[in-house]
Amino acid sequence: MTVPDGTMEERAESTLQLLREGVGRIYHPVLLAEDLVGIPDFLERTEVPSDLGDFSYRPVDINISASPKPEHAVQLGFYSLLLESLHGVMLPTADVILVDRTRATIEMASAVESAREMIAEAREVLAGRRETPTLSSECGMCPWNDYCLKAMSASADISLIDGLGKTKKGPLNALGYVDLEDIANAASDALSQVKGIGQRMAERIVRQASVLLDGRPKMISRPQFPNAEIELYLDMECQQQTQVIYLIEVLESRPDGEEFRAFVAERPEDEGEMWDELLAYLQGLPRDPVIYHYHSFESTHLRKLAERHGLRPDVEPKLFDNLIDLHRVLKDSVVLPIHSYGLKTVAKWLGFRWTETEADAAMSMLWFDLWLSTGNRDCLEWSIEYNEDDCRATKVVKEWVASVARHV
Ligand code: SF4
Repeated sequence: MTVPDGTMEERAESTLQLLREGVGRIYHPVLLAEDLVGIPDFLERTEVPSDLGDFSYRPVDINISASPKPEHAVQLGFYSLLLESLHGVMLPTADVILVDRTRATIEMASAVESAREMIAEAREVLAGRRETPTLSSECGMCPWNDYCLKAMSASADISLIDGLGKTKKGPLNALGYVDLEDIANAASDALSQVKGIGQRMAERIVRQASVLLDGRPKMISRPQFPNAEIELYLDMECQQQTQVIYLIEVLESRPDGEEFRAFVAERPEDEGEMWDELLAYLQGLPRDPVIYHYHSFESTHLRKLAERHGLRPDVEPKLFDNLIDLHRVLKDSVVLPIHSYGLKTVAKWLGFRWTETEADAAMSMLWFDLWLSTGNRDCLEWSIEYNEDDCRATKVVKEWVASVARHV
């Protein structure tokens, strides 16, 4: 049964009604207890007795994830607490349904403890405790992102420095390095004494802090790009649960124009065929290309594809000797006034805009899964279009770095 629409209180009342009736499953229930509210994906009946009678309920959540994560456990622990206050019993486990439709059962004892601690902290914040946010990889997906970024920028928080997350911020704060100015003026030798920060990283974060304060990019070394008649900008997408590469896309750039080539495994079992098509394309090029990609994902997975499906010795150098990781080149040659060196952040800072503004790699994977499950070809096309933009963005970054290098 699905809880009917209405105000939160009405939906909570309908949920209680369905709980008392003992129906098998309750979809989108509203669990309301004091100042707490939780909406699991569904509740399922068990035969463990509770205040309701000779049955009770346990929460189940559905997540686009290949394995259960700590945050899934805490969420289920929170729902278990709410259920306990509604029907007087807490069951020892709860389930999460993963992206491959399998169920993972999670023990609730420590998850409930973590949920209790978080509730206590949230109540302290509501009562006026000031909380300083820390920039982390979770922030991009978080609805508080804009608010927290503003707060962090206002206090010039040191977590705005790329790579300086929670684990390093605490020890640095304890030594008196609280804001960007403190880091920009610090001696790298002193910073390198902090656990997890070596000399090289210390020098990098000092530079990064001063560029963030200054707002202008700074060249630190002149990158060398090989002269090549054919440049390829390569990007690929991977299906999360199977790790199958379903799309390799190449923007081929020559002096007389450019063209996209999409190598697609329309079904996971077509990966080998797609790989062969890519190799045949590379073999057919009149000259050795330079192959630009962004970050290590592409080079790692090209090697895995070669292991899975083979690579002729004459094609191997054409592919692997010509790969250039632009992320590495960028970080070694220029410091940018941004908080992350991910392709999205860097290309957006350079003015590049993705056609589908809300899309990201997770959305592209979802489109591919939808194509597989529904056969709707539009979903496959959207995934290909998204990837084209990633190739274009990679080219924009390369051209910018090359042009800055020319003018230094
Ligand atoms: S945006 Fe704010 S609330 Fe969200 S994860 Fe980042 S710091 Fe935490």
